[in-house]
Amino acid sequence: MSFDLVLFGGTGDLAWRKLMPALFQAFRHGSLPEHGRIIGVARDDLGDAAYRELIRSRFNEVDLAKRPTPAEFDRFAALLHFVRMDLSRPQDFQRLAATLRERHADTVVMYLATAPSLFTTAVQQLAAAGLNRPNTRIVLEKPLGHDLASNRAINETVRSALSEKQIFRIDHYLGKPAVQNLFALRFGNALFEPLWRRENIANIQITIAEDLGVAKRGAFYDNTGALRDMVQNHALQLLCAIGMEPPINAHADAIRDEKLKVLRSLKPWTTQALDGDVIRGQYTAGTVAGESVHGYRDEPGVNPQSSTETFVALRTEIANWRWAGVPFYIRTGKRLAGRDARIVVNFRPAPHAIFHSPSGSVNRLVINLQPRDGLELHLLAQAQDNRQRTRAPVQSLTPVHLDLDFEKRFGSERVGAYERLLLDVIDGRLNLFVRSDEQEEAWRWVEPVMEHWRNQGAGPRPYAAGSWGPSAASAMIARDGHCWSEEC
Ligand code: NAP
Repeated sequence: MSFDLVLFGGTGDLAWRKLMPALFQAFRHGSLPEHGRIIGVARDDLGDAAYRELIRSRFNEVDLAKRPTPAEFDRFAALLHFVRMDLSRPQDFQRLAATLRERHADTVVMYLATAPSLFTTAVQQLAAAGLNRPNTRIVLEKPLGHDLASNRAINETVRSALSEKQIFRIDHYLGKPAVQNLFALRFGNALFEPLWRRENIANIQITIAEDLGVAKRGAFYDNTGALRDMVQNHALQLLCAIGMEPPINAHADAIRDEKLKVLRSLKPWTTQALDGDVIRGQYTAGTVAGESVHGYRDEPGVNPQSSTETFVALRTEIANWRWAGVPFYIRTGKRLAGRDARIVVNFRPAPHAIFHSPSGSVNRLVINLQPRDGLELHLLAQAQDNRQRTRAPVQSLTPVHLDLDFEKRFGSERVGAYERLLLDVIDGRLNLFVRSDEQEEAWRWVEPVMEHWRNQGAGPRPYAAGSWGPSAASAMIARDGHCWSEEC
């Protein structure tokens, strides 16, 4: 099979930090179809040779394990081409059309790794140049809009040029090996599904914590904030993966129908819930990994009076028979105590205790997404201590955990999120991509929160960089008698 992958924004941060390394890994693993071209597009005046040199130099900043040897890069570079184009100039699309006509590839992927403000123009111009053929697939990066109305406008434009099955809205969290394995664990094994419900599960916690600040993206972030950047998309997609019913088969629409039902079942916001169940924060100066760091308002590109949230913690419920009454907590933020993304499923304690067990210890399934991928199952086991065994009137249990570390288990064969998703686009598999109605439903659900914040005088609560966010986030979960997993 031959393919042309057109990378709009082919010189940008996303292209060289994530997409090129992922494409190279696919090439190294032998999974990239052989007859392919990767065509970088940007306004810079580069030819193929200069583009290859640019990408070669950028690889020096990539993790060592993902860096090609000189010989590997020479072979990979043969795939790389460059077309100089300004997406706002209709005439430039003819240049791309001429490049694509050179060989009429079986599949043409258009990856929009550019500012979202260019999405609509780019799609309209692709259609005007006749580049929206049945073999065309388009990949849209987040953020897809700023609110429900802008999201709908983009989706309508894209759908006027291409059918839904040609549109790949990327949420790279869905490509993470641990999320794949969450689906496998739930729907490929009989063990957990009977337990996966309100009778056995006390609460679920989704944490996506970053220790980094906004780096060079201050201006972008200040217009976005944690709710739009992380909750509306990644965190809600993870919540869907945990909360969805088993799909009738593994086809994309069967999976997406079930995710959509979860989003539609999220408990509607009330004024009381907006006041008590959503905490927003903004980091102030502090210490991260032993280094003093600026507060958010002192970051380059950020308004010194900014009220943009860099932290959100919230509580919600899925109002259906399986989950009624089970709290789902979402927490995400920048400049937190660690880089740590995980989902924690806390099971209910045993109904009748015949052993001593340390207070707060319950069965817990942890799905680690970052910095390492894996699953941990926390159990209670008989303490292997002879003195205690003979003297104690009641036997004590001790926490142990079964640990499946994907890196150790699968090593360099592990397929990273972007690698997996790029290969899925080339192969036309939509399972791990988000449908427009899911996206719209997620925007519909976060909009009351945005509106509430707009009308609220008090801005975000300050928290010191290097902490776990405002103490109100701990107070919120404590109200239910629970605690964040690192606090218990
Ligand atoms: P970036 O570093 O600013 O790169 C933008 C790219 O678009 C550059 O190659 C730029 O090259 C090109 N470009 C800009 N205007 C153009 C025009 N009129 N015509 C043709 N090319 C144009 O941005 P980025 O960080 O890579 O982000 C790209 C997209 O991915 C954004 O939607 C962003 O929200 C999303 N995203 C980024 C990340 C990330 O980690 N960076 C993560 C998730 C999502 P020239 O200026 O030379 O034309």
